[in-house]
Amino acid sequence: MGVTKAVLGEPSIVEAMIQGGIRLIADSRIENIQKMKRAGISTQFVLLRTPLSQAESVVQSADISLNTEIETLKKLSHYAKTQNKNHQVIIMVELGDLREGVLPCDLSQFIRKTLSLSHIKLIGIGCNLACHGGVKPNRKNMQELSALVDAIEKEFQIRLEIISGGNSANYEWYQSAQDIGRINNLRLGESILLGCETVSRRAIPGLHTRAFQLFAEVIESKKKPSLPTGEICQDAFGNLPRFKDRGIHQRVIIALGRQDIPMSSLKLNNKLEMLGSSSDHIILDSNNHKLQVGDEVKFDLDYSGLLSAMTSPFIRKQFTNCKDHAVA
Ligand SMILES: *Cc1c(COP(=O)(O)O)cnc(C)c1O
Repeated sequence: MGVTKAVLGEPSIVEAMIQGGIRLIADSRIENIQKMKRAGISTQFVLLRTPLSQAESVVQSADISLNTEIETLKKLSHYAKTQNKNHQVIIMVELGDLREGVLPCDLSQFIRKTLSLSHIKLIGIGCNLACHGGVKPNRKNMQELSALVDAIEKEFQIRLEIISGGNSANYEWYQSAQDIGRINNLRLGESILLGCETVSRRAIPGLHTRAFQLFAEVIESKKKPSLPTGEICQDAFGNLPRFKDRGIHQRVIIALGRQDIPMSSLKLNNKLEMLGSSSDHIILDSNNHKLQVGDEVKFDLDYSGLLSAMTSPFIRKQFTNCKDHAVA
């Protein structure tokens, strides 16, 4: 599955995923799925975050959803009945990361209840690791998932179609596994968008790691002292700021701030250094650069930076067709 939440279901990016051969498009927000459908994208859509009050629109817009609560499945079944369709579900199992999932000891009973719902079609089970607890996907937890699949299929005499082993953190496991067991699906966002796996953020061979770039405009450039003058109190965010004396130096302000992106998510490729940020400004030491008002500063983004930048209504998104570009 190609996961599109970090780009808010941006249709041109989703189309590129589909051109790349992905058939299932997954997002955690039903609003993003609705946006993709309105843009005319026709494929199977999967809702990643377990729904509840949005059950009616989930049945309407998503073909498949991931679930962990019977209450929610009952609602989905109810709305599927009123919409005269069956809603497909994947049940998530808790394998140690402690985010979403039914505990393995409760799985059999949970599946029994799921199978009793008239307009719900159980198509698979899955798990999610390396998100909350930072638990690494490995042979042991992946074998555990496969064993649960075997047990459920045997107990209920059913065939599970999708066994979803995890997210971009499963890349290393998948590459090195002798035997992937019953796992036949991964849900991949960051690895497709930023070209790296997420256990140690290593680049994946053949993928572009700089597909997203953020440009900010220089709105002030002046030589100033590096130490503030006056009595020091709390800054705009309640912190007591500390400064290093680097003498008089060239400082620039760029039109980008915490409302757009956290400074820690920005990666500079050159000798510029970020000195601080407030809601709307980031201050840089540009002693080694001759940056002028109107110049642009270019940043690479990490995953949370991509998520923030795509979500900020103040950042203009521009798409370049890179079909002919060589892969870095
Ligand atoms: C976000 C998400 C993913 C994708 O994670 P990446 O690290 O971007 O690959 C997969 N599964 C679920 C349930 C998610 O919420």
